[in-house]
Amino acid sequence: MFKFLQLGKKIRSLFGAKVDEETLEALERAFYEADLGGEISAELTEKVRQIYKKNPSISSDAILEEIRKDLIEKLKIECAPPNPSSSPHVILIVGANGNGKTTSVAKLGKLFKSQGKKVLLAAADTFRAAAIDQLQMWSNRAGIELVKGAPNSDPAAVVFDAIQASKSRECDILIVDTAGRLHTKTDLMHELQKIHRVSGKALSGAPHETLLVLDATIGQNGIEQAKMFHQFTPLTGLILTKLDGTAKGGIAIAIQRKLKIPIRYVGLGEGIDDLQPFQAETYVKSLL
Ligand code: GDP
Repeated sequence: MFKFLQLGKKIRSLFGAKVDEETLEALERAFYEADLGGEISAELTEKVRQIYKKNPSISSDAILEEIRKDLIEKLKIECAPPNPSSSPHVILIVGANGNGKTTSVAKLGKLFKSQGKKVLLAAADTFRAAAIDQLQMWSNRAGIELVKGAPNSDPAAVVFDAIQASKSRECDILIVDTAGRLHTKTDLMHELQKIHRVSGKALSGAPHETLLVLDATIGQNGIEQAKMFHQFTPLTGLILTKLDGTAKGGIAIAIQRKLKIPIRYVGLGEGIDDLQPFQAETYVKSLL
């Protein structure tokens, strides 16, 4: 599944020989190159330095275990789980174009459907006819109903209709795809705010979750993107996509440190089943 085992290999080879300042510098570089970011790379290196001071004969496996424990701890952030008792449970999916938003909407729909939930999708990226068609194709394949508006119609109106439809059809979950054209940032952000407002009017408490889709291969730039979205639509979680396409992977840890927003799901391919709930332990094991 994940393809970023290089870091563990690198660390083992570094600790195969005598450990000195040069080794520690190389270690810090390896962390950095795995996209863990400057701060975490420095912290982890310092931790390893202290461990070696106390116990110079420690094995490379034991060191790896210490680093793993530390990373798992870093990935555990406090967050109230979304309230599952609201029905329909409305999930807004936001993110810049190309990050894998529409695909993730379909994947998430399929995941909930396979758990026995009644799911409805809403195509509220009315700006791109291709996005509506793409979601229609996915929903046909997955056998999930879709509410869509005409191209260029008001996305907030599509969401309002979709919430009404999900109430009358007694759906458990409504997943909303939104636009992501970053070159008209202000318009997009106003549009997302309006969708937020209108959702709350159509159903008290909606949207119950707002998940940002981030492409793991864009590395640290993802953090800036997330900060911007978070300003306009408070995010409750992240979907980190294309983790199958990066040899790095440390970005998940850097993101959680900087944003304090939990990663909920990870995308591991282009197929509809290639989405998994995020688990810190599994993730860190794959990283090291
Ligand atoms: P959107 O513009 O954000 O809605 O992005 P799309 O859903 O259209 O996806 C953009 C491209 O990324 C498509 O070619 C998808 O197949 C691909 N994609 C999405 N998620 C993943 C993933 O987890 N792994 C890989 N390898 N490709 C993905």
